[in-house]
Amino acid sequence: MPTEQVCRHLAYLGPPRDLATLLLAPSHSLLRQSYAPADMRGGGTINADGFGAGWYPDGAVTPIRYRRAIPLWTDATFAALATEVRSGAVLAAVRSATVGMPIADTACAPFGTGRWLFSHNGRVAGWPDSMATLARGLPITDLLTLEASTDSALLWALVRSRLAAGESPGCAVGTVAAQVLGCAPASRLNLLITDGTVIAATTVDHALTVRAGNGAVLVCSEPTDPSPDWEPVPDRHLLTATRFTVDVVPIPLTAGVTTPTEEP
Ligand code: GLN
Repeated sequence: MPTEQVCRHLAYLGPPRDLATLLLAPSHSLLRQSYAPADMRGGGTINADGFGAGWYPDGAVTPIRYRRAIPLWTDATFAALATEVRSGAVLAAVRSATVGMPIADTACAPFGTGRWLFSHNGRVAGWPDSMATLARGLPITDLLTLEASTDSALLWALVRSRLAAGESPGCAVGTVAAQVLGCAPASRLNLLITDGTVIAATTVDHALTVRAGNGAVLVCSEPTDPSPDWEPVPDRHLLTATRFTVDVVPIPLTAGVTTPTEEP
């Protein structure tokens, strides 16, 4: 029987650190979460279908992305690169593909355009039929140029169109989560986005935790170490954070009643 599977993701803002220190070295790092996650829901066991990391080089507004459709623990090139690359803004993820979705570099988070990096941890229930109405509100070219034929890539296209219309990242991910819940209520929708200066993240039926202090913030699916400073983010909440602030509010679920623009 097909199982629901859940990836793991992480975002960091703070003083520049090397990617190995952030992603590979901690006792329950994203690397460890790729083969021994602590909190997989719905039947997933490991996150072996790929991984990705995006980072902002010092002073850059546009991130670099590295994505591979292989287990993180098998990529010696990334491990070597990670000890050399330093950044003060990072978003990374490990993937357990939802049954029926393609396994490809381009299906791995982070998705992105311009200064944005985006990840989705979960699955859209009833995909793809449940998303037809929302997808109809997007420009046809956005649908033709999806990075992959996955629920996550479509979620990114929906978020991106809201950013392009001038919405804040928190408003964009919160509204998309609410809209998708309106069409597909059984979905798991942990969305995560950064532009290198702010992080926004939703929790819908999966775990998220945050640790902040000393001018740094780390938002992760699971705590990466046993520190008592991690704060769980409650379900159906929207987190927005900078290096110095963390704000957590309920997702404005009434946004889900907004009907997307119908094509003529
Ligand atoms: N549904 C998404 C995919 O297949 C995310 C998977 C997950 O969170 N396990 O890529």
